[in-house]
Amino acid sequence: MNTFIPWAAKQGIKPITILGADKSFIFSKTKRYVDMTSGLVVVNLGHNNNYIKQAFTQQLDTGLGYVPSMFGNYHRDKLSSRLLDLTNKQGKVFYGLGGADVNENAMFMCLEYQSFKNQSKSKILTFGKSYHGGSSIISSLLGGDKRKMDKQLHFDLPNLIHVPNPSMNDNGKHSINTISKHINSGRVAGIMIEGSSGSAGCIQYPKGYLNKIQELCHQNDVTLIVDEVMSGWGRTGKMFGYNHSDIDPDIIVTAKGLTCGYSPLGAMIVDDKISQIYNDNTLNSGLTYYGHPVSCAVANNCLDLYLENDMEVVKYAYCLGDEIHTLANEIVDKYSCLVEYRGNKLLGCFEFKNDETIQKANILLLENGVFCYNRNKLLFIAPPINTEYKVIKDVFEIIDNVIEQVQE
Ligand code: PLP
Repeated sequence: MNTFIPWAAKQGIKPITILGADKSFIFSKTKRYVDMTSGLVVVNLGHNNNYIKQAFTQQLDTGLGYVPSMFGNYHRDKLSSRLLDLTNKQGKVFYGLGGADVNENAMFMCLEYQSFKNQSKSKILTFGKSYHGGSSIISSLLGGDKRKMDKQLHFDLPNLIHVPNPSMNDNGKHSINTISKHINSGRVAGIMIEGSSGSAGCIQYPKGYLNKIQELCHQNDVTLIVDEVMSGWGRTGKMFGYNHSDIDPDIIVTAKGLTCGYSPLGAMIVDDKISQIYNDNTLNSGLTYYGHPVSCAVANNCLDLYLENDMEVVKYAYCLGDEIHTLANEIVDKYSCLVEYRGNKLLGCFEFKNDETIQKANILLLENGVFCYNRNKLLFIAPPINTEYKVIKDVFEIIDNVIEQVQE
């Protein structure tokens, strides 16, 4: 094997080579798999979508395969307007290559905002269990997450504070009290939280939890950064995960489903309150491929599909998510090797009691033509949001059979 496999427990195991894909399926030379986690929760609108594919040739036929950041560009500017409209914002949009680098820029901007206002606030709050990206600085945000502990080289940023995730048992009280204590110290510049929790474990937010965080942020001029990299674009049956609460974040970070992975792109939608500081100050950030025109064209075609017929596909995802929870809970009730199924619509996971059982289950699932991303004791269920009901029903029958076989 001449390619590193990031995050894999062992190198050297020959992975299945994927030769093609269509809708909710991926194909090796000999087998068809249902892609039950949309790759890494990316391909929200499914594989091989002709309308998304057209964006490549349409953009490249203009002759513009690259446009540097100091020029305007039709698709980049159009996308910015649409992202601002969708989030009811007057501000500006910043582009990157994916979730991690844009999240770093969100932290950077929230710290700059405070320093331009001559405030000494310099702390950022994140959650003990959270994931915001794999580049060195941003992965310091992972509290006690194993993915951080495995990487000894990661450094702890002095200005980072990890706060407890909410628990449904106390309605999020302990988490909110801790956040409140830190914010009331007057040293906190911002807080970063997923709009709906994903790979950190689909941790449930009690009702009103995000509203309470927003209230604390508003009272203390703390920037609320909502990471929608995984939870955005219909994944939770709403356009963004935070749309399940009545909040208006200062910064929204998106990637993955923005282009459905057909081309890399991350974007940060910044409220006017913060973006206006750069009317008279230089924004010292941005990469060579800032708002790449091909990726922005792809994103615009994805947005056309998400918004088509009054967001029909997003509404479909809401109902499909409910169906999945029903099917998953029936399985949990049958097998004692499972702790629970939890999540928000099409962003969910089974929690297993032990590592060995989940490893066995995942091997059997692959043998039976089902691909699910798994991490530690969690088996994620996040298919393309337009997956047919029939496909899901068949997959859950397979999951049921597989768990019956691995159950001891
Ligand atoms: N934020 C969240 C919530 C994520 O789930 C991820 C990746 O899985 C990231 C950020 C990082 O995105 P990327 O891998 O595109 O840098």
